[in-house]
Amino acid sequence: MVGTSAVIESMGSAVNGKEVADVRFDPTAVVPELVPAVVKSEVDAAVNGGGQEQKREIVLGRNIHTSSFSVTEPDADDDSTGDKEAYMASVLARYRKTLTDRTKYHLGYPYNLDFDYGALTQLQHFSINNLGDPFIESNYGVHSRQFEVGVLDWFARLWDIEKDEYWGYITNCGTEGNLHGILVGREVFPEGILYASKESHYSIFKAARMYRMECEKVGTLLTGEIDCADFKVKLLANKDKPAIINVNIGTTVKGAVDDLDLVIKTLEDCGFSHDRFYIHCDGALFGLMMPFVKRAPKVTFKKPIGSVSVSGHKFVGCPMPCGVQLTRLEHINALSSNVEYLASRDATIMGSRNGHAPLFLWYTLNRKGYKGFQKEVQKCLRNAHYLKDRLIGAGISAMLNELSSTVVFERPKDEEFVRKWQLACERNMAHVVVMPSVTVDKLDNFLDELVEARSIWYKDEDVKPPCLASDIGSKNCCCPQH
Ligand SMILES: *Cc1c(COP(=O)(O)O)cnc(C)c1O
Repeated sequence: MVGTSAVIESMGSAVNGKEVADVRFDPTAVVPELVPAVVKSEVDAAVNGGGQEQKREIVLGRNIHTSSFSVTEPDADDDSTGDKEAYMASVLARYRKTLTDRTKYHLGYPYNLDFDYGALTQLQHFSINNLGDPFIESNYGVHSRQFEVGVLDWFARLWDIEKDEYWGYITNCGTEGNLHGILVGREVFPEGILYASKESHYSIFKAARMYRMECEKVGTLLTGEIDCADFKVKLLANKDKPAIINVNIGTTVKGAVDDLDLVIKTLEDCGFSHDRFYIHCDGALFGLMMPFVKRAPKVTFKKPIGSVSVSGHKFVGCPMPCGVQLTRLEHINALSSNVEYLASRDATIMGSRNGHAPLFLWYTLNRKGYKGFQKEVQKCLRNAHYLKDRLIGAGISAMLNELSSTVVFERPKDEEFVRKWQLACERNMAHVVVMPSVTVDKLDNFLDELVEARSIWYKDEDVKPPCLASDIGSKNCCCPQH
């Protein structure tokens, strides 16, 4: 197969090489893993020492995030089970404490950390795997397709598509949904050009590389939305080729929602009939919030869109990453082939698929329902406004897009502060994504600390806060100049 080795190569180097990862991945979307010095020296020792024992430490070091875990392995000859059990229990107990602590000070990622899946612990003993297609059983009986399809039906209703007209599956994450959506677009239009705003998630550009697609990056407005004037120029320059468009339902950094209707109108104005374009909606975060915001434009299959994806661990909240991808059944026929070994249709990106994830999603959808989500969305938007108003009130540059709970503000001067609150930063910006687990108390704590820290950072006349005019517009900027 042409291109396969290149794909594997580039993925491999992105995983193994730090520098490569920095270049390939959009830093806007990834906060560099902040590995404490102690762990780094462990890694060095392990890399240089090479032995099996030490290699295991790398894994521990990467997961633990704190120097207090530089515990050495118990003696390999020591087979007293009691010691080993005690050792493992203590490692786990300390790990749990770290997690509790890191959860308490988490503000930068759009993850809802507030959930209770106690009722599902009884299922942890099963190797649940939904390998292959959700709608066609494989020969492996320990699966959760009943739950998966129930969840998919719920999303189909949310996005207005009939049961017998959609196809979809529960993915490993929003990224897999994007990889799938762009792939479906490419299979429908093998010659199509991919258009995506430059503030799109890095997974979109990864898809372009993996599938060796021609890709046009479209400019954005200050809000972070796609600039349809620029989109038009790029479309008109490529009128001979079909268009595959990624539309952002909430960008990663600014939480900007692309104007889907204007994107469609721009396509039509440029002479692209509905059979000459494919739209994938990346709704990783807001895909599940927008439907519950009254004045928000609707994401619906009643419009000429091809697919929508969303992350399951973001707004819903889930112990493991997962997502949902929905497309039109008619498109899947372009992409699938029969794999006899599975006795199943092969239309998913992954083969084996996490069978626990559908249970978690099913559980929360049932518990909260539309009403519950609506309440949470309203709370998030209210709290986001509270945060923004207090930032501005304290003379700190800040912006909040209308449909968003992502508050963009002045990047804190001190990396220690950024690390403590796990803020995602880009250029002079940082952001807080207000999720259901972010309470007013937590925001107050954060604000008090920020205001106090700033009074120290900027106590000298000649040290000034950064200017954010080019990032969020001069009307949102509170720097000395604006
Ligand atoms: C988080 C995010 C993704 C990727 O989702 P994962 O579940 O992290 O893979 C894609 N697009 C946007 C806009 C996101 O915010």
